[in-house]
Amino acid sequence: MPRIGMHIGLRYDIIGEYASLLLALLLLIFMSLTKPKKSKSFKFLVMGLLASIVATTLQIIIVEVASNVTSYYNRESFTVLLAMFLCIYAVIQVLIFNYINLLSERRLKKRSVIIMLYIVVALFYFSGSVFQIVMKSLYYVRTDGIDITQFTRFYSLMGIFCAIVCFIVVMIRRRSIARIVIRGVFIVVPLVVLVLFLQILDKRSIFSASTYVIPLVAFYLLFHSNPYDEETGCQSIGSLESRFLTNIRTNRIFYLAYIDFPQLTDSGLSPNYEVLAIEMARVCREIERISRKIHLYRINFGTFMALIETKERSDAQNYSEQIRDILDGFHERSEDHIHYFLGVSGDSRRFIAVGNKWTQLFMMYIRDTKLIDGENVYYFANGSDFRAFDEIYKIEQTLIDIRIKMDADDERIVCYAQPIYSVNQDEFRSAEALMRLSIDGKLIPPDMFIPIAEKNNCIHALTVIMMHKVCKAVEKLAMEYDFDAVTINCSTTDFTDKTFYKEILDIIHEYRIDKKMIRLELTESMMAENYESVKHNMNMLNREGIHLYMDDFGTGYSNLERVVDVPVQTIKFDKSLLYKSIKDDRVDDIISYMIEFFKKNGFVTLIEGVEDESQKKYSIERGFDYIQGYHYAKPAPIENLGKYFKHK
Ligand code: C2E
Ligand code: CA
Ligand code: CA
Repeated sequence: MPRIGMHIGLRYDIIGEYASLLLALLLLIFMSLTKPKKSKSFKFLVMGLLASIVATTLQIIIVEVASNVTSYYNRESFTVLLAMFLCIYAVIQVLIFNYINLLSERRLKKRSVIIMLYIVVALFYFSGSVFQIVMKSLYYVRTDGIDITQFTRFYSLMGIFCAIVCFIVVMIRRRSIARIVIRGVFIVVPLVVLVLFLQILDKRSIFSASTYVIPLVAFYLLFHSNPYDEETGCQSIGSLESRFLTNIRTNRIFYLAYIDFPQLTDSGLSPNYEVLAIEMARVCREIERISRKIHLYRINFGTFMALIETKERSDAQNYSEQIRDILDGFHERSEDHIHYFLGVSGDSRRFIAVGNKWTQLFMMYIRDTKLIDGENVYYFANGSDFRAFDEIYKIEQTLIDIRIKMDADDERIVCYAQPIYSVNQDEFRSAEALMRLSIDGKLIPPDMFIPIAEKNNCIHALTVIMMHKVCKAVEKLAMEYDFDAVTINCSTTDFTDKTFYKEILDIIHEYRIDKKMIRLELTESMMAENYESVKHNMNMLNREGIHLYMDDFGTGYSNLERVVDVPVQTIKFDKSLLYKSIKDDRVDDIISYMIEFFKKNGFVTLIEGVEDESQKKYSIERGFDYIQGYHYAKPAPIENLGKYFKHK
């Protein structure tokens, strides 16, 4: 007759192990759904989870056998089970340890120290395991079950040992480990030690799996979960990036839709924030309902990105139109008729590699165009749009880089020049410096990059670099050749800074040249803004003997009285005036009158854009002092000016 004790027997409570197993499985499922970024540390996490699942399963089997010794027990296989568990437990320790250290890997040079530590701990652990197995002291078979107390105690002790080593290493290297990790270690390690300690004391329940599954869950939540936006349920930008990369890696074709509500960008503080947030969520649900191929991500309050994962352009177009309809609906409903920008990236595989750039391009588009007028924009871009955008983008990046580096010898700024013919002296006496931008060996004309430079606050840097280059070239040319000056074009922003004149004089001073050899060109439109500082700079430059030119005369408002009031010495007639006056007698009369007027008032006159013999003849007849144009020479690298000037 069995004793009562045998009925109660050596039964273990393993509900804790089941809970941990479930947790690990759930986490694995979640991870496969949210597709976090597959970083190196993420791989450790996945391996850690898989190992945990195996270890916990083994543990459950061990306990099952131990509790039903009569039906399942077989000495060899039981020992193998225990040994397997011990091995996997060691693997888990290594993975967790590695994971924590990986978070600071970038700054970690002394890997060998860590590896030594692993080896020492592993030797300790495995020799202990082997000893226990050989001595057959891991467990004792009793009539009512198998007593695995010693086994549990052994690995728990080793777990405590590892946790403490890990703690110490983290403390030693705390400078290179993120604060959040250190805090986590501070909380988790003592907890793990406590739980393992309790595990050693408790002979009837097994719950040690929690000590590795819970840290893994914590890692996931902290570093790999892709938090969903709680308002709209969209995924965050971090997960967009990982999906993007996966698509690119697997060479999958996708379209990118960029949805922006410019009015909402800083709506975080708006009074009807709540209403808007609900509306946003509704829009998102509607978009998601279009197709399962659409993945929506939130970038900020008023900006979303959708990946449309389809091969067919027609599908993408169709989906985009549906998105547009939804946005139109939102526009109609919303109180302030919130307008939107919907840009969809073009089609072909080629652009996949630069997919990331589309975002930049759309942002640029939004900044520069239509949206200022408060219109809804739907824009399905194609390859040529992309190339046009890309060119501007490249120019923008280059200019910004030039501004940051601020190097007077920057080779991306190329200094061209065009000689100017003096009618009185019948020779070339001066030249105009003209800037070019060199990108990937291609020269970009100023009409293309100057407006971009002005928008990005880069123009001043360009003027300063040009200034240096021209001074340097003039210094060299003046040693051999006889000429009066080289002019440099300036822009409005240069002249609105009251100390601009000083900067110019300082630069000229750095070179062994007569400052009169550098002249500046301004345009009429510059007088319109900030007239005070512009005039101040002009007066100061004049006082130092720097000649000033009024460029593009005749394209603006041409207020003659005002021109006389401005301290310039040379009036440079715009080429359009020349072309018009040859065709139109009335313009011809005006020009003749103006030349007379300027001469009487002591100004020098110059005509640009002279392309042929007849235009040259006309210009001389009308009495222009100087002539510039393709007829004489096209702009070329400034060093070439020697060809046109006389030797000294
Ligand atoms: P701009 O100051 O009116 O310069 C004259 C432009 O006319 C130059 O164009 C020149 O190449 C062109 N040109 C010269 N001769 C002829 C001709 O016979 N026929 C025709 N059709 N054109 C002729 P470029 O070099 O493309 O420069 C365009 C504009 O870019 C310049 O107009 C100027 O406003 C600006 N720019 C050029 N370099 C600089 C610079 O260093 N700084 C600033 N701020 N602007 C510059
Ligand atoms: Ca000019
Ligand atoms: Ca001009």
